[in-house]
Amino acid sequence: MVYINNFTVSREIHEIEYMYNNCKSTNINSMLESFQDGNTVWSVPKKTVPGDVVIFLCAKSAYKNISAASSHLSDCYSKDFFDFINEQKKLYKQYSGYLLGYGVVNSIPYYDDEDNRWYSVIDRLQKIETPVHFDDFKMFIAINKFASVTILKDEQWERLKWLINQNNPDLFPNASAPDIKALEQEFREAVRKEESKPLEQLKKEAKKKSSQPSAYNVSTKVYFRDPTIAAYIKKRADGYCQLCGQKAPFNDKNGEPYLESHHIDWLSKGGMDSVDNCVALCPDCHRKMHILNDTNDIKHLKTKILQE
Ligand SMILES: [Zn+2]
Ligand SMILES: [Zn+2]
Repeated sequence: MVYINNFTVSREIHEIEYMYNNCKSTNINSMLESFQDGNTVWSVPKKTVPGDVVIFLCAKSAYKNISAASSHLSDCYSKDFFDFINEQKKLYKQYSGYLLGYGVVNSIPYYDDEDNRWYSVIDRLQKIETPVHFDDFKMFIAINKFASVTILKDEQWERLKWLINQNNPDLFPNASAPDIKALEQEFREAVRKEESKPLEQLKKEAKKKSSQPSAYNVSTKVYFRDPTIAAYIKKRADGYCQLCGQKAPFNDKNGEPYLESHHIDWLSKGGMDSVDNCVALCPDCHRKMHILNDTNDIKHLKTKILQE
């Protein structure tokens, strides 16, 4: 099992004070110190087993929490405690919303009666030197705000490793880049989900959002197509789309009717680059084939080719 441990800090000043009195630390600095030691004892899900991978995420809400807690500071606290809170605030400001590192569970969990939690030894801790922000992976991993643990599917872990590796090149050099088609598919699904919201709500939410999107190089396959076939297909179409029968919508810079070649059985699905599998389409129809790939259209194109 691979899971994200979404840790935070209390909103209650007396709880932080309790931590301060006991160990002079909160989750964040004990986490950062553990990275130096290479191991830690941390709360884990009951069903954890040795070998599980734990990824540590400092909750997006953590900075808000400590700010809320510090608004309850009063003169009755010592200067040392004030300093401690300020240091913690700084740390949470820097790390809230970021993946900090990961480790491997190395012991069967044991139950702590006082905390009502299970704990395990986690070793082989690795700090992620350039932490990855939650916004960069929230599209494919939904972190439950209320639960501290999110279990990852294999493909999510693979994607996350790849994402971490973008800015930390030595951590997961073998993680494979996501497929561009899969990314586009996920994006379309996410849009569809958003579309279910009422217009006014969408407007409000969309207006609040504005960002420079993060960008990554992903892998994409390139097919080396035969230029003879491509030229013949164009000439055969003679300036008319082979699906809708309309004239090409414009001429290209050389004054040639603009049409796009399309493989009826897609190359990506093992289709051949051959004259019986290739047609010339107007951009609208080409899009349509890639979005709908309607069986009637396919039939239409195949008979059309046979007639040529
Ligand atoms: Zn057309
Ligand atoms: Zn195509």
